[in-house]
Amino acid sequence: MRLLIMGPPGAGKGTQAVALAKRIGGAHISTGDIFRANVQQQTELGKAAQRYMDAGEYVPDEVTNAMVKERLAEDDAGSAFILDGYPRTVDQVAKLDSILGELGTQLDGVLELVVDPEELIQRLLKRAETSGRTDDGEAVIRHRQEVYTAETAPLLEVYGSRGVVIKVDGMGGVDEITRRIDDALPG
Ligand code: AMP
Repeated sequence: MRLLIMGPPGAGKGTQAVALAKRIGGAHISTGDIFRANVQQQTELGKAAQRYMDAGEYVPDEVTNAMVKERLAEDDAGSAFILDGYPRTVDQVAKLDSILGELGTQLDGVLELVVDPEELIQRLLKRAETSGRTDDGEAVIRHRQEVYTAETAPLLEVYGSRGVVIKVDGMGGVDEITRRIDDALPG
């Protein structure tokens, strides 16, 4: 199974994607995690990404697309994966289509976690207390929501028109949401 998990920052994508990757026996591919690991190790990729991340802006597509293409070609993503945080722009959707096309495959489903906007801010402020993430300050948190609404929310229409979006209520406890996802997925 090849899935994408979508939802605004703070919707719980990362947490749910880890559980889902186990369930489907595939790779969890989080572009945010890959960028953060590269920033920590101060690789060239990390240096290219850091200032965008710190400002709550998207890293340029050419950097991000090349990284995802490489990641999707790795063995553990061969038959199943869950993408978390990519694609995030309409242009990235086109790029992902072409990467998957070259690999002779496509997405089976797009999970959308639906969470109330104020709840998102509260969750992220709470996460900020322990995450150590440099993009978890309040101004950047709010900016990231705006960027999501402008750049990424439109993807739900793109995937919606393909009939692959599965909406899941993302309010409530982690286990409760995991159960809802399990129930909503085919198979
Ligand atoms: P996340 O952990 O998914 O919230 O991502 C953290 C940050 O990494 C984002 O705010 C962006 O700066 C960057 N990032 C992650 N995924 C992408 C992407 N697909 N395109 C551009 N930037 C991204």
